[in-house]
Amino acid sequence: MQWVGAQVMGSGLVQVWPGTPVAAPLLEGDRVVGVRLIDQGTDKDGNPDAGFLPGMDIRAALTVVADGPVGPIGRQIDERFGRPVGHHRREWAVGAKMVVDLREDVDLEPGTVLHTFGYPEPQIFGFMYAYPGRVASVGIFVPSWFDSPVRTSYRYLQHWMLHPYLWRYLEGGRLRSWGAKTLQEAGRRGEPSLVGDGYARIGEGSGSTNVLTGSGVDEAWTTGIQLAEGVLELLKEGRPFTKENLERAYVKRRRESWVEAEARVAERARDGFQRGVVTGLVGMALTGLTQGKLAIPIRPVPPHTRMPTAEAYYRGKISAEEIARIREECTSRGLPLHDALMERAGWPAIPYDGKLLVSHQDALLLGGKVQAPPGYADHVVFLYPHLCETCGTKICVEVCSGQAITPGGSGVPAFDREKCVHCGVCIWNCAQPRPGDPERTNIEFRAGTGGLHSAEN
Ligand SMILES: Cc1cc2nc3c(=O)[nH]c(=O)nc-3n(C[C@H](O)[C@H](O)[C@H](O)COP(=O)(O)OP(=O)(O)OC[C@H]3O[C@@H](n4cnc5c(N)ncnc54)[C@H](O)[C@@H]3O)c2cc1C
Ligand code: SF4
Ligand code: SF4
Repeated sequence: MQWVGAQVMGSGLVQVWPGTPVAAPLLEGDRVVGVRLIDQGTDKDGNPDAGFLPGMDIRAALTVVADGPVGPIGRQIDERFGRPVGHHRREWAVGAKMVVDLREDVDLEPGTVLHTFGYPEPQIFGFMYAYPGRVASVGIFVPSWFDSPVRTSYRYLQHWMLHPYLWRYLEGGRLRSWGAKTLQEAGRRGEPSLVGDGYARIGEGSGSTNVLTGSGVDEAWTTGIQLAEGVLELLKEGRPFTKENLERAYVKRRRESWVEAEARVAERARDGFQRGVVTGLVGMALTGLTQGKLAIPIRPVPPHTRMPTAEAYYRGKISAEEIARIREECTSRGLPLHDALMERAGWPAIPYDGKLLVSHQDALLLGGKVQAPPGYADHVVFLYPHLCETCGTKICVEVCSGQAITPGGSGVPAFDREKCVHCGVCIWNCAQPRPGDPERTNIEFRAGTGGLHSAEN
């Protein structure tokens, strides 16, 4: 992405403003006329503070929304214009990834690709890719249909690396960078309104990701190219960027392309996972072999409707009284429950080596390249505090990729912007639906600065 940024900036026709998040689309009636950047010099609640600078308005004939699966602009546009009937975003996964410098004697051929399934939990997928210079990237995907109330991707990634088949390559390696990101796995069924007066949507946020093959990059790029071709066409014709013109110049191109054809095949591929791993795999095979004609006929449900409590999940292994005691102890120390509960349930402790197997907190410092400047409002907001106070699962604390959400003293979790990796997992995982809108949750994810993601991830 940085390479591409340099190329387009080099053309002299494009400016890229990194670190300048967009807060909202600018609307005039039903027309998007540009964007508003976020306010600077505020306290964490967004109130003006020293050096306050209100977010600048940038007006444009066409606003291209490419803010990925959790971007706030796409979400605000969805809120305003709605989603096509029957479309939803109930399926997602969190991908947690590390880039590792391998030890000197590892002779893993650059280009080696290893994919795993079913370890360390049946629902978890993993990957290891080898690059030149004894560098590898390793990661796992934790899907929305993994019904565990302690679904920590960081800890599971460590257990995954410790599998003997992988550890023989990874042992002695050094963590180079680390990050996490949500994948929108509803694919074509998560597609929003692709165009409107003055705006068009491309990339994963536009529902382009192929959920059968797990491919998102080519699809995201291609939708961008299709829009660019459509824009050139409209410019040559001297036509404005209205919904109607964009439908013809962009959406029609997209509908007639391989992106649409493959997304149609893939669209129901993962439905079987709603009933478990085996049904899910059968469903994927069925869909793949029949080119999308057949699928397991199950409609995905919002994850918050199926997530068990810790008490239900550990029934027969850990008593409710002991869970209550562990919860009290962890809450008083500001810690999530997952380490204590997993170890109590029999998971081995992670043998920290100070290089690759490090605590979550150390990973944030070592591998994430912390960069959250002061003077901006918190971008993760617990909209209805009373829902948090009565929320038993508090799964936002367990899933948080950066340990940025911790148990709060008042029953409402605390959020530390400096640790947030902007993965968006908390939005999808929150255990409580938003009053009046069961498709969304009690967490609002706004535009924010920083993000521990390093460019290497
Ligand atoms: C661990 C992992 C491994 C993957 N492996 C593969 C793979 O091997 N092959 C493959 O094809 N796909 C893979 N994918 C999927 C792929 O990464 C995505 O499909 C792809 O990145 C989508 O691109 P995008 O540009 O649409 O969205 P994103 O990559 O999500 O980019 C959106 C961008 O918008 C920015 N943004 C959001 N909000 C704002 C705002 N308010 N203001 C300014 N900027 C904003 C974000 O910071 C981000 O940079 C993987 C994903 C993960 C998580
Ligand atoms: S944000 Fe959601 S999951 Fe977290 S405590 Fe509040 S309601 Fe529960
Ligand atoms: S608070 Fe930040 S790091 Fe934690 S889950 Fe939410 S987006 Fe990810």
